[in-house]
Amino acid sequence: MIQRRVVLDKLKEELVKANVRLNEEVKRIVAEYEGPFSDVIKENYIISEKECLPLCQDTGILEFFVFLGHEVVLEEPIEKTLNSAVEEVYVAYPFRYSIVSDPVFERVNTHNNTPVVVHVFQVEGKKLEIRFLVKGGGSENLSTLHMMNPSAGASEIKDFVVEFVKEHGAKACPPLHIGVGIGGTADKALVLSKLALTKDFSERHPDPRYAELEEEILRTVNLLGIGYQGLGHGITAYSVHVEHFPTHIATLPVAVSVDCYLCRKGKIVFED
Ligand code: SF4
Repeated sequence: MIQRRVVLDKLKEELVKANVRLNEEVKRIVAEYEGPFSDVIKENYIISEKECLPLCQDTGILEFFVFLGHEVVLEEPIEKTLNSAVEEVYVAYPFRYSIVSDPVFERVNTHNNTPVVVHVFQVEGKKLEIRFLVKGGGSENLSTLHMMNPSAGASEIKDFVVEFVKEHGAKACPPLHIGVGIGGTADKALVLSKLALTKDFSERHPDPRYAELEEEILRTVNLLGIGYQGLGHGITAYSVHVEHFPTHIATLPVAVSVDCYLCRKGKIVFED
């Protein structure tokens, strides 16, 4: 059995880290950036880490991807543990509560940044892997879905993603991490596009055709000249990741999600 306390403590540690410490991949890239506000961006992450203050005032909605081994035994439903971890962290630290209850009629703040969004995938084995994104509202508003013509090929998919970033990319505090979900159903494509954002920048798709699509989209997006914070200097995107799934003969869902320049995320693995 994987003890609730073990998952809770590790998760709380990672949630704090994601909010106050710029992830190493981003830090390496940002450290080399010279341009408008580059000093402010660097000063911001140095102060956040030193003072344990959030990297951004928008401390996000938490989205979890849980890969639950079929032999794993838990003390309570994983969703309950994830919500407890977020509540304990957001109440204890100076992190903004960003969640409202009913989305239309009430919009009353829940005052603990829960509930969280959870996707559970049952897999074989004894491991429990938890990935998460701390998703700011600005980047979340740049999510989109296009039910493309089934005959559309890689080049049309690339054009759709690039056009979308060209029109909206500056609104989500670039450089961006771009996730593209292709196939399945409309909802599956959107989840895949988010799952793509949990990958490290350097990871490439194992299928060389999709790897080439990732690289081609990145190359073209970085010719748009949107740059850091949309000010026209430096790169527009750090990386592009594609996740795909079989689909219906008459459909080709393509979803795009982005993460802002902070790319606050985490990955933890436990073994039963
Ligand atoms: S897009 Fe990211 S950096 Fe910009 S305000 Fe939102 S959370 Fe903060």
